Amino acid sequence: MNANVRYSVIIPMYNEEAVIQETYRRIKKVMETTEEPYELIFVNDGSADNSAQMIEEYSYWDESVKLIDLSRNFGHQIAITAGMDYALGDAVIIIDADLQDPPEMILQMIEEWKCGYEVVYAKRVKRNGETFFKKWTASLFYRVLAYSTDINIPVDTGDFRLIDRKVCDELKRLPEKNRFVRGLVSWVGFRQKAIEYERDERLAGETKYPLKRMIKLSLDGITSFSYKPLKLAGLLGALLSASGFLYLLYVLYLAIFTDSVVKGWASVIGITLTFNGFVLLMLGILGEYVGRIYDESKGRPLYIVQEVYQGKKKPQPVGL
Ligand code: UDP
Ligand code: MG
Repeated sequence: MNANVRYSVIIPMYNEEAVIQETYRRIKKVMETTEEPYELIFVNDGSADNSAQMIEEYSYWDESVKLIDLSRNFGHQIAITAGMDYALGDAVIIIDADLQDPPEMILQMIEEWKCGYEVVYAKRVKRNGETFFKKWTASLFYRVLAYSTDINIPVDTGDFRLIDRKVCDELKRLPEKNRFVRGLVSWVGFRQKAIEYERDERLAGETKYPLKRMIKLSLDGITSFSYKPLKLAGLLGALLSASGFLYLLYVLYLAIFTDSVVKGWASVIGITLTFNGFVLLMLGILGEYVGRIYDESKGRPLYIVQEVYQGKKKPQPVGL
């Protein structure tokens, strides 16, 4: 698309000053070996530390560096999306800033891309240095997601991947707000190829995905690609009301044809709590969908850019 840039590497960062220098150095080294023009797009997702200033500094003397400075923290998935809007390359690579994804694998991705695959994603066969809880919940999430959806979202695969210009352009046409990028990439289709790797430990700093954010991401993933939770709620509702009705028949039978009656308080409170709990749960599930409809209907932009740094020039987002 652009004769001057063959590869765009998108690096979202949120308070990554402890690693960002090393990340820059390692990614740069790998991209140099391609001997083709490339750009490094750092998206600063509202960091409160010095990560943005460090990259801004680099951008003055390294013209392959572009810094997209967002006006606040919009979240990892939105930061990636912002990077895509500014990417010029024929192939776009997304990689975390904490070196958990080895940059050296980019070369392997590029090889597969040159063989004709439009999406090359990195599948984690092992995760080093993460807590048992994180590994377990992540693994559970990917399996629930795979079960819930009809499209084929690969399990144990994060956002570390290479996508072709065509895929990037298609993704830019999807306006949804609560984005689950890896699912969207699967939804878009094209020829996809997995390469396997062992995920390293974070080089320094802490995870920016505490439990709350992981739950949000999981819910975004599931609600964006599946109605199954709603169907499941309906099915359970039908089962519960059927069993309630049978129980009622039993109670009537006892009252009419025998001398005994079902004793009161315990059974009433038990049934009331179960059924009310169930109704609230269903409402909660419904709420997850309705809230997302509300987000869509507001039509706010996905993110706001405070400043773009590249040398002294300020590039415009492509196609915006
Ligand atoms: N990140 C971001 N915005 C956020 C949270 C995270 O841009 O609100 C970036 C972060 O700097 C890193 C990547 O997203 O480059 C993945 O985050 P992290 O490594 O903390 O997640 P984990 O690997 O622990 O799942
Ligand atoms: Mg990480």
